[in-house]
Formats: sequence, structure tokens, C-alpha cells
Amino acid sequence: REPVLEIKNLNVNYGLGDEGVHAVRDVSLTLHRGEVLGLAGESGSGKSTLAYGMLRLLPPPGVITGGSVLYHPRDGEPVDLLTLSTSRLRRFRWAEVSIVFQGAMNSLNPVHTIATQLCDVIAAHEPRTSRAVQRSRAKDLLKLVGINADRLNSYPHQLSGGMRQRVMIAMALALEPRVVVMDEPTTALDVVMQRQILAQLVELRERIGFSVLFITHDLSLLVEFSDRIAIMYGGSIVESARAADLYRESLHPYSDGLLHSFPALRGPRRELTGIPGSPPDLRAMPSGCAFHPRCPKKFEPCADQTPMLTAQPTGDREVACWLHVAERSLSK
Ligand code: ATP
Ligand code: MG
Repeated sequence: REPVLEIKNLNVNYGLGDEGVHAVRDVSLTLHRGEVLGLAGESGSGKSTLAYGMLRLLPPPGVITGGSVLYHPRDGEPVDLLTLSTSRLRRFRWAEVSIVFQGAMNSLNPVHTIATQLCDVIAAHEPRTSRAVQRSRAKDLLKLVGINADRLNSYPHQLSGGMRQRVMIAMALALEPRVVVMDEPTTALDVVMQRQILAQLVELRERIGFSVLFITHDLSLLVEFSDRIAIMYGGSIVESARAADLYRESLHPYSDGLLHSFPALRGPRRELTGIPGSPPDLRAMPSGCAFHPRCPKKFEPCADQTPMLTAQPTGDREVACWLHVAERSLSK
């Protein structure tokens, strides 16, 4: 499997010094070619910070304090997005990696038609194409996401939330990027619409061929639609595994809690237990494993020592939990 985007030891803070918050903590994560990678975790776990950080789109006072983000172009050497010049970075976004923000559907400009907004994205990167060509491309893009061409001259307020979200996806695909990042593009939409949009995205991925980093706190959607899932807790990745493997057996008690927060997709009914307690305060993180105060399976080492994200002997899987790290390091 070829990597497209390799995040290595990324650290992000909001503010520095005593008032600072360490929101992304030494995260390493690889997105492979053609893959749908899901990123899940409770609110405040750092999912958006990770996505915006790696594309250098952090709002102030967000600062990257370390790490690298290697992008592997179609041909040529990998480039580190964190050290790329701002002019190269600008060309790079949309064309190579595009992002659909959390609540993006509300960021459409209300005074322009969706055709104008789609054409503007194309024109910004390909200024020499004629307006007629741009409009015909815009029409194709809308068709791709299941919106009829007669909607081309609609204003955002004339479209439903689901349609506006699909317009944003069309924009993200306008320049045929190799990576599409979606940050909870569906939270404001009802469940049926969420599934439709994700299903469409997966289908487009197969037809056009791109990689997707899909961020949500709805793990049930990821289990159904992604190839691999990474779970974040308190700014760190605590488990990553193939979606099917994670659904069959989650190794981290936090993943287990998330999986038991929604009804079983198929097979026997699972008990819905949820996770007692609340996410950690990033300014006052618990000692040892950040999850230990909420963990039903904690034992001696958990309160004192932080478990490293460790590759597991079976499958393509990593876990940061003493239940699965200790025995491995002892056997070494
Ligand atoms: P959600 O599921 O709610 O979108 P998330 O996993 O995307 O949550 P982030 O938005 O990345 O979480 O936030 C991670 C942490 O960083 C949180 O503790 C949050 O309070 C903090 N944070 C986010 N934005 C800022 C900011 N602009 N200034 C200070 N702290 C921030
Ligand atoms: Mg977020």
C-alpha cells in the first residue's frame, strides 16, 4: 500500500506557556492511496485540530510545535506541507488536498449562485479556462454529487442542507484532488442524509479514485463506510485498525466504549453502555494513561505510566493500552 499523506509526530498547541493547551499530542497517522480513513473520538479530542494543523489552516492562537506532514505527489519526491512556502501551499490546497470544513454548508456565499461559486474555484486555479468551460465543468460536478443541472443558478438558501453539503463536496472535488478531508460534514444533517452523502463519497472514491480522511464522532458511520479507523482521545491516537477488525474486536477500552454507544449494525444486539465520565481537561491531564479515570479495565500501571501506541502482532493494528502493550514489551 502506497502512502499519500504521512503525519509524523504532529504536535499542536493553542497558545503557549501556562495558558496554552496541548491539543494534538505526538500524532502519527498514514493515509494510503485510495483508502477511506475514519477519524473518531468524542468532542474536544482534537480531530479538527489535527486536520487543520496538517494543512496549516489553524485559526489563531493555534500553533504547530513539532512534526512533519509528508505528501507523496503523483511523481517526484515527497514534500513536507509544514515547511512548504505559502505560495506553493496555496496552489496545493484544493488541487492536491481539499477540505470540507465542519459546518461547511453554511460557508457558501449567500449572494452568489452555486454555479458562480463552483466556477470561481476552477478559475482561481485555472485562470485561462473560459467561463463556458467552467460552467460545463460545474454542471458535471453537480451531477456527480447527484444534483440536477437545473439547480446551477440557485442561491444557497434555495437548497436544502443536504444539497448544500453536496455542493461543498462538489467544490472539494472540482480540481480532482488526490486527498479529500471531510470534517464532520454531516453533523447538521439527519441520519438518512448523512448515510446518503457518505455512501456517495465512497462510490465516487471508487469511480474517480482519491483518498478520504473522514472525521466524525459517529463511529457507526465509519464502521460501515471506512477501510480503516483511528480513534482519538485527549489529543492522542489510542487505537487504529481496519474497520472490520475494530468492529469485531476493539482492543482499547475507549474504542469499546465508543462502539457500545450505538446499536449493532447487524448480528446480535449489543448492550448500549456508553462511556461514563467526561473527556479529560487538556490543561490538567490525568497521569499515566489519559483514559484511566474512566476505564473499566484499569490495573496497576495505568495511573502512573503512559502506554505508547504499539503495533500489534496480528493484522494492521496499533493500540496504546497497557492491556496490550505490557505483555509485548515484557516478551521482548
Ligand atoms: P468536535 O467533535 O467537537 O469537533 P474535535 O475533536 O474536533 O471536537 P478540536 O476542535 O480539535 O476537537 O479541539 C481540541 C481541543 O482544543 C479542545 O479541548 C478545544 O477546547 C481546544 N481548542 C480548539 N480550538 C481552540 C481555540 N481556538 N483556542 C483554544 N483552544 C481551542
Ligand atoms: Mg471538530
